[in-house]
Amino acid sequence: MKTDLLITGVSQLVTAEGAEAKRGRAMSALKIVNDAAMSVSGGRIARVGRASDWTGQAETTVDVGGAAVVPGLIDPHTHAVWAGDRLGDFEARASGRTYEEILAAGGGIRSTVRATAAASVEELAALAKPRIDALVRSGATTIEVKSGYGFTPAAELAMLEAIEALAASERARCGARILATLLIHIPPIDAADRRSYVEQVCAELIPEVARRGLAAAVDVFVEREAWQVGEAEKIFLCAKRHRLAIKLHSDQFHRIGGVELGVRLGALSVDHLEAAGVEQIENLAASQTIAMILPGVSLHLGIPAAPGRKLIDAGAAVAVGTDLNPGSSPLYSSAAALALAVRMNGLTAREALVAGTVNAACALGLTDRGRLEVGCVADFLVLYTNDWRDVVYMLGANPVRAVWIGGRRVAG
Ligand SMILES: [Zn+2]
Repeated sequence: MKTDLLITGVSQLVTAEGAEAKRGRAMSALKIVNDAAMSVSGGRIARVGRASDWTGQAETTVDVGGAAVVPGLIDPHTHAVWAGDRLGDFEARASGRTYEEILAAGGGIRSTVRATAAASVEELAALAKPRIDALVRSGATTIEVKSGYGFTPAAELAMLEAIEALAASERARCGARILATLLIHIPPIDAADRRSYVEQVCAELIPEVARRGLAAAVDVFVEREAWQVGEAEKIFLCAKRHRLAIKLHSDQFHRIGGVELGVRLGALSVDHLEAAGVEQIENLAASQTIAMILPGVSLHLGIPAAPGRKLIDAGAAVAVGTDLNPGSSPLYSSAAALALAVRMNGLTAREALVAGTVNAACALGLTDRGRLEVGCVADFLVLYTNDWRDVVYMLGANPVRAVWIGGRRVAG
């Protein structure tokens, strides 16, 4: 059979195998094919194997010159749509103030909320575009983007519309897939306003988002200074009634029951986990919920890193994201997020690659990407070097020479 594309000259082709999330020790299992070739038909992988075994013909043959090839990365947690900047916060924190102090004082994230609310949908999409482009150049081929800087249902809808516009323009430009998540992020200060906001979210916002297909999932920031478990549960039950997946920002600063809630309700992922203890780790390990760690936040805020090593040793499935956002993680590289997970969260190179590919895909409910197997979308990265480990080794330079999405070279 003649295929559309044949990639040859691959020193190492490295991938996890099987669509399911890898847990515990299985996170170390990679298939490594030396002197490999891979063919693509209709944007999907048609065959993977040793080059010497190849017998078919291809429309186009590309020799990557002895470089290593890995799956396109999946960035499962970003806040890439925002307006304004947090450079003042950055300086304040460098002077000793904590993220929580800035949040509790009404600064920090609330300034992003104000600036985002003041921007049009078109402005928000235009501001986000170069951020998404940076993530793609760093190897991300599928990217989750959250709303969450709105204080009103209308502002959240505007953010989701901006993400929808961004997704359409990226699909046309390079084929990168963007998935939107509705994030219920920071509550109103007044208690009565909190109650009525939860009611509004459940009665108006979630039904509207579901009806218009504006998001695939609903996320809630569960934290002492944000939403409480009871409030989050109401929102999640509403999301589930509308057939939206659920996920949480939880256990970032305090353990207030977010992990337990997420596991109980079947969340796709519980994200952050910097403050997670033994009980939370064991709870996640015994569940189908993915433990998502975000090392950029630990680096930028100087908070403890999430217990990635302990989570994997306990048998959990771990994924890694950039958490790209202006306040707590201005990390514009998905490859760098994996490199940081090795240094800060104790992952091995193999575990980091799995965390940023197949496990990250599973954290978004996707089973057709994040690995180089027959039938998967042909999203892959050609590295600068012949050793795949460079993708999690290099700091401060991009290890990715070329990004291919759906069998098309889109960067590099
Ligand atoms: Zn986040």
